[in-house]
Amino acid sequence: MNPIRLVAKLTARGVAIDGGGGGGGPVLISATDVAAALGMGRLKPEAILVGRAKFCDDNTAQLQLAGWVQTELHRRCQRAGWKTDYCEGLAQLCVFELIWPYRCTHCYGRGSVWIQQPEYREDQESGTPPVMVDRWLSCGRCKGTGQGRMSVRERAAVAQITKSRFSETWAKRADDMLAELHSLEDTCLRHLWRQFASDAA
Ligand SMILES: [Zn+2]
Repeated sequence: MNPIRLVAKLTARGVAIDGGGGGGGPVLISATDVAAALGMGRLKPEAILVGRAKFCDDNTAQLQLAGWVQTELHRRCQRAGWKTDYCEGLAQLCVFELIWPYRCTHCYGRGSVWIQQPEYREDQESGTPPVMVDRWLSCGRCKGTGQGRMSVRERAAVAQITKSRFSETWAKRADDMLAELHSLEDTCLRHLWRQFASDAA
């Protein structure tokens, strides 16, 4: 586990980076500053694309990233001897899921829900029913992340693959690619956190 906990939130004006552990508060960084910071240092070109696509609302970067993912998937398919027909649709799916993660439908993306729980008072006579109280608790469905997932049917539709073929063969391969993109996103966040660490401290 990395000791640095990084939470980035997209905001209307850019990205808020919360550098926990070091005691720093959240810092709001504009999309322009994020783009400039991504270019400083030694991030891989695909990591910079992920950062610009996800945190700078950069449509050109989103298209370029889809192109990179498609080429990468094509390379993987060829190496493994798989069909290469679906790389374009799968690339669309991966970039879509990276950039617009679905909200959890149970808590509407808030990560917590109101749950009624019984409350017993110390001085309560035995046998009397408990008072029900509403408590704002972590959502069990998404484990407090606020993020949901598209259904298999929706994912297959975005990838332009039939549902059965997608779930039997391609879902795992798409998830592996998505995991790589999330790892590049983490790399970006660490990079940004270092770049803006003095602001957060
Ligand atoms: Zn939830």
